[in-house]
Amino acid sequence: MIIVMQDTATQEDILAIEERVRAEGLETRVLRGVEKTVIALIGKRPPELAEQIERMPGVFSAMPIGEPFKLAARSEATERSRIQIGNATIGNGSAMVMAGPCTVENRDQLLTTARHVAAAGATVLRGGAFKPRSSPYSFQGLGVEGLKLLVEARETTGLPVITEVLDPRHVDVVADHADVLQVGTRNAQNYVLLRELGTCEKPIMLKRGMGNTIDEWLMCAEYIMASGNPDVILCERGIRTFETSSRFTLDLNAIPLLRRRTHLPIAVDPSQGTGHWFMVEALSLAAIAAGADGIIVEVHPTPDVALIDGQQSLSLENFSGLMTKLEPLAASLGRSTQGVDS
Ligand code: PEP
Ligand code: MN
Repeated sequence: MIIVMQDTATQEDILAIEERVRAEGLETRVLRGVEKTVIALIGKRPPELAEQIERMPGVFSAMPIGEPFKLAARSEATERSRIQIGNATIGNGSAMVMAGPCTVENRDQLLTTARHVAAAGATVLRGGAFKPRSSPYSFQGLGVEGLKLLVEARETTGLPVITEVLDPRHVDVVADHADVLQVGTRNAQNYVLLRELGTCEKPIMLKRGMGNTIDEWLMCAEYIMASGNPDVILCERGIRTFETSSRFTLDLNAIPLLRRRTHLPIAVDPSQGTGHWFMVEALSLAAIAAGADGIIVEVHPTPDVALIDGQQSLSLENFSGLMTKLEPLAASLGRSTQGVDS
């Protein structure tokens, strides 16, 4: 941490800070410039110290210089994390494709979609069983019945499954059925849920809160990791901006920023991120080109009558079309869509 003193700071102010800091077991180096005095702190500081020091007389500002998320942070030396999902790996240089319906509606809808996305080259099946809806009167998902259908779809296709967990009380039942647990944007800062997921032995895909900065999002990942689960995949899914012509603004800036600041794998959800099926292909390709480790895409056999998110779901045919463009794009970057090392 660096403490910058006010121009009017006295010698007593500086001594008081040195004394306060030494009481925490830290060392100081005082650097006197022509106008400003700066105090550098050496050692591991308690998280509250910066705010406490800023209240002391003569202090202009106290700036922590390390990342506050210790487990999620990437240092120059850190290898990027690889997370195994079924037979595939995310974070190994491949471009993973997760696809399936927004929500599990019935057996036929799920199995038709699952067989199609598997044949077209997806390596993970998505499908919501517990749905976070804006209205309490809307369809809330099939719950445990939906989880059972996802297990059947995994048995039929061999694809591992990802599904959302909404409630800390459901973590065990969702983890018993799914291969990856998804935390939705509306729960991204539900710290009770995040802590509970830290005790779970399945990987977690943490969506970005629609109003969260990158720093806030990484602190959410830190909650899961600090509670014992290192297997966190981050998923950019669009943020709220002043723009209303798309449902959210997909923040592709997040990809290179995250690759610099964290070792965690990065997925992108162009379906929630745009809200329009005709934008999903372009943004999927852009996400992989920008360095995302994978995408998660909504696909439905009859989007026009989907119970949730039909307007942003690809038809089976359009999903196949996406894959025929994504595979050569990934290959041109030396990457495979099949989750194998590259
Ligand atoms: C979803 O994946 O269907 C979903 C609801 O995602 P988000 O939490 O990103 O809105
Ligand atoms: Mn959806």
